[in-house]
Amino acid sequence: MSQNNNIIKVEGREINPAKVDGPSDVFSSASFQLAKSRWQEDNDANICVLCNQKFNQIRRKHHCRQCGRVLCSKCCYAKMPLPQLGYGDAERVCDFCKPVCELVTKARSPMLSYELEGAKGLSEFVRDPDGVKRVVETGGLQTLIWLARQGDEQMRGYIISALHCLAMHTSLHPVLAESGTIKAVCSILSNADAEQILIDGISSLMIFCKSSDLKTQAIKDGALHPVLTLCNHSQDAIALVALKTLSLIVEHAGTHTAIIESERSALPKVLALTASSDEQVQEVSLKLLAHLSMGTDYHRQRIVQEDFTTGKGILKVLRSNPNNIQVLCNAACLVGNLATSEHSQGALQEVIDPLCLMLGSHTESVELTTHVIRAIANFAKYPQNAWRLIPYLAHFTRSCLKSANNALKFQATRCILHLLLHSTNETTEGLMKEGAAELLKGLVEIPELMESMHKSILKNVSERCRPM
Ligand SMILES: [Zn+2]
Ligand SMILES: [Zn+2]
Repeated sequence: MSQNNNIIKVEGREINPAKVDGPSDVFSSASFQLAKSRWQEDNDANICVLCNQKFNQIRRKHHCRQCGRVLCSKCCYAKMPLPQLGYGDAERVCDFCKPVCELVTKARSPMLSYELEGAKGLSEFVRDPDGVKRVVETGGLQTLIWLARQGDEQMRGYIISALHCLAMHTSLHPVLAESGTIKAVCSILSNADAEQILIDGISSLMIFCKSSDLKTQAIKDGALHPVLTLCNHSQDAIALVALKTLSLIVEHAGTHTAIIESERSALPKVLALTASSDEQVQEVSLKLLAHLSMGTDYHRQRIVQEDFTTGKGILKVLRSNPNNIQVLCNAACLVGNLATSEHSQGALQEVIDPLCLMLGSHTESVELTTHVIRAIANFAKYPQNAWRLIPYLAHFTRSCLKSANNALKFQATRCILHLLLHSTNETTEGLMKEGAAELLKGLVEIPELMESMHKSILKNVSERCRPM
């Protein structure tokens, strides 16, 4: 059909996407033209590709200027200007190409009413896979992206609904991304107020951010700013999708500084959402913060400071009893990461008690217990926390040290070793009551620990001795 071999499949249909003559990102171009299809050789065609009738002296061969195929005059009778292909005069177009060609031609008119008609028609075509094929093969995609450059609200509505439909076909993602779809979506989102436009737009960005390749592209194409703004939208549904999208973007560590330093005060907004009455919002916002807390020590300090000044939301979550256990898992994961910040120990003091109490009350979730004991072991590293932790020694031994789960056992062992170092007597006393045997068993099972202890003892304790 044309010279390119990038055949894509959408729901079983083969699609050969239109190519642009010039840079493929049409959102960044003042104008664009499609590459002409290579004409099928007359000799290669014995029958009309649409009606299957044989060519002869009466039934002559004609080329469709859009798809380049050979057809009979009945199937290729329409004539229209095709400015998108560089044809100013009316040219032959086949019955298959005609409906979408007409819309693309109209969309290039200098009159808004024609442009709107074109965009509306294209947005209706992409609702089914056959229409998707026609729109993508005849440059309808590029036309929609290119139209997104202008400011009409109705136009934005048609375009964003079409781009959202197209975004649902994963196989189209590379074509969408290289044509400038993400830029068009971000631009529409930054300039629209209508709810449906915002829902279509942010949903499209979420779809793109689920793919790791497109996520990088989305960040590069400016997705972060509209997403941050929409996280605070008054419509809960829009804010939740924005928050979910942000939690996908945040998996990309390169975005952390931009989020934490955002002028749109993303950090206080996300912290405020941890107090939402919607547990799903709590879950996502805490997960997002847990990602942010993986970064630099400065990022961790900023989160702790901001949380401290905006009302200790994280502490409130740890003291709450949500139905959704994942809320607590994400909160404990976050606190565990924050606990590694030396400068934040003072501000984090109050979370230690509720954290330790969780070991007694939420033994059913291994994920939660693992995050909690990791957080506790991180706190145990600092001598000033020892007196707060020692009263809970029995919890550490019962729920973690005696556990069959190695991750739990090792974290508890780490915690107790820190405590033994900082508060030897109190810790030993506590361990004698219960747990000393488990600690020793645990130590023996930690790979290489016995060997290094052995080495250390050999170095410090001599075997031979001079007579005294
Ligand atoms: Zn025909
Ligand atoms: Zn055609």
